[in-house]
Amino acid sequence: ITTFFAPMQQMAQLYNAYQQGQAGITKLRQLLMTEVTVMEDPHAYPLPDIDGRVTLDRVSFGYDVDNPVLRNVSLEIPPGETLALVGPTGAGKSTIAKLVTRAYDPTSGRVLLDGHDLRDVRLDSLHQRMAVVPQEPFLFSMSLRDNIAFARPDAADVEVERTARAVGLGDFLDRSAAGIHAVVHERGASLSAGERQLVALARALLAAPRVLVLDEATSSLDLRTERQVERALDVVLTDRTAIIIAHRLSTAMRADRVAVVDDGRILEIGTHDELAAKGGRYAEMYATWDS
Ligand code: ADP
Repeated sequence: ITTFFAPMQQMAQLYNAYQQGQAGITKLRQLLMTEVTVMEDPHAYPLPDIDGRVTLDRVSFGYDVDNPVLRNVSLEIPPGETLALVGPTGAGKSTIAKLVTRAYDPTSGRVLLDGHDLRDVRLDSLHQRMAVVPQEPFLFSMSLRDNIAFARPDAADVEVERTARAVGLGDFLDRSAAGIHAVVHERGASLSAGERQLVALARALLAAPRVLVLDEATSSLDLRTERQVERALDVVLTDRTAIIIAHRLSTAMRADRVAVVDDGRILEIGTHDELAAKGGRYAEMYATWDS
């Protein structure tokens, strides 16, 4: 599960960590989850089992002191909800996602998971309960199995295969003699853009996080593949809290709620129907959305 913010240079390092086997896995997970700009508190405790309630409590943040990026954002996402973040480029959507996964800490305010301040809990225990699906999923030159079982290398082959089929990779499995052991090429020669997205979704599904953060791909897919990705999303979003940086209208429409982010603030939040009827910014976006 690579983050949508992990620089590509880290990938060689990641691959080495993977090659080191089980010992490298924890390190690998850490590298994958965050830019690691945060420190673990020496008194941090492991996060207990959680339902997946995400709270931003008056959060402000800037990458540097002179440029505030989030301004007093408060947000409560109940367990199991899918929240779509929409808004113009540079609004602060990815930054919200980075604070929720604790890639960064707020300048002021708190980010809570089931009431636990993220700064108080152990990072490994946080990463076990969260997954990030980046916009451009990175695939390793390894088997499809190892690509999917990334966060859970010990998963049984049957479970990996079931997961692959659950997200719609059945066609790929059926046309490849090696099945889940087929080697995936980094440049994606053997997989279409849509199938690469499905692999990323399968990764997230197998990891079974309580909270999923997903940066929706912007690359255009043919209609059939797009439907397949939508169906896979339905499967992956079920029974967990999800925050999606949404670029497609169909994704915003299917989310439980939509938050319109602009200039580091949440302008509007509500269901698609509520916001569309309200005649505000979302209604404006909706009227001109071209996908
Ligand atoms: P969105 O996801 O809505 O497009 P972002 O959260 O990526 O918006 O960006 C919000 C603001 O923060 C933008 O002005 C952007 O230039 C700035 N920004 C994003 N990432 C960084 C970074 N790593 N360092 C400095 N500024 C950043």
